[in-house]
Amino acid sequence: MTDVKRVPLLDLTRIEPAMTEQLEHAFRRVLSSGHYILGKEVEAFERECADYVGCRHAIAVSSGTDALLVALMALGVGPGDEVVCPTYSFFATAGVVWRLGARPVFVDSRARCFNMDPEKLARALTPRTKAVMPVHLFGQCADMTHICEIAKSRGVPVVEDAAQALGAEHEGRRAGTFGVLGCFSFFPSKNLGALGDAGLVTTNDADLAETVRVLRVHGGKPKYHHAMVGGNFRIDELQAALLRVKLPHLDAATARRSANADYYTRELVGRGVARLCADEPRCGATCRARGANAGASGDIVLPNPCGGRHVTNQFVVAISGEGRRDRVRRFLSDRGIGTEIYYPIPLHLQRCFSELGHAVGDYPVAERLAAESLALPIFPELRRDELDHVVSSLAEAMSASRP
Ligand SMILES: *Cc1c(COP(=O)(O)O)cnc(C)c1O
Repeated sequence: MTDVKRVPLLDLTRIEPAMTEQLEHAFRRVLSSGHYILGKEVEAFERECADYVGCRHAIAVSSGTDALLVALMALGVGPGDEVVCPTYSFFATAGVVWRLGARPVFVDSRARCFNMDPEKLARALTPRTKAVMPVHLFGQCADMTHICEIAKSRGVPVVEDAAQALGAEHEGRRAGTFGVLGCFSFFPSKNLGALGDAGLVTTNDADLAETVRVLRVHGGKPKYHHAMVGGNFRIDELQAALLRVKLPHLDAATARRSANADYYTRELVGRGVARLCADEPRCGATCRARGANAGASGDIVLPNPCGGRHVTNQFVVAISGEGRRDRVRRFLSDRGIGTEIYYPIPLHLQRCFSELGHAVGDYPVAERLAAESLALPIFPELRRDELDHVVSSLAEAMSASRP
């Protein structure tokens, strides 16, 4: 290869010296405290998260998956129940439903924003539906206005899988405040990443908050007295202390992610390599939020956010044509560019759910997205020359792979 520049999908080692110092300071503070699980750091972090999200209660837990699990446990989800969720998501969304003995009922997505299609939600609801669990995929809120309206009309609670969307907004409200419960992940690749596993549950309901707190420690209240069965969903003081250092820098980092996304959009559309997804005509003028030309003719289809605050946890494009996405991916890999496929198999086609009886063709939009999607490097610390390398390599890859 003529160009040996490497652009990783994500590089977590690019930490500013000032931040490193603060993290080391937080580490020493916890080390000398002698208190390592559920303490003052966790309490302070929970208050700071509640402020940031704009909700009354925040309960920090062991991971994003455990946040989802404990949220569904707090609602009493169990055998015989159904939980409605998108099929185009990370595995944990449906995995937690299954683990509780309940049945995940899938809904197809909208190609434009990758999120649950509210128009297909109503027909997924049955008398057994215990919760609706939209996912704010890649950092953009699902259409919570319509999803909440439909769920409310059927008396079903909404639990948000906001794992990728801390700080995302829909009509001026933040992810994690629409449902009765919101679930976040601080997995290192998320916008606010711990130095290990961590998660958070948000709610405005004091009773649910208390239930989640009790479930977090095996359901014991007082200690060793169990009216319910919970689990070990505790979070370390260390992770809370480290996350407290990073939280005040989150908005600046998110702004850099968005600037990177805008740069890709401008450059790729400008070179005639990409166009914005125009799958849903009723979306109208707001679709051109990024100022790019919706009528452009490039082969790469870019996500087309319809207003709201997209926190760009991932920048995922779609490349159609038999095998073309994979050829482009290999080309980029040869140029030292890291990419990923989020997600190659929609949940309804996962082998572990085969007894649900789904077949190829059941959720065509999700299946198409799984075949066409490609995540490009978008992390905040990317340099301009790296973005340019991705743009020019992608342009080359597209002509090299022209059918
Ligand atoms: C990351 C993620 C989770 C799980 O979070 P962990 O902290 O990794 O357990 C759940 N749902 C979605 C959509 C995610 O992206």
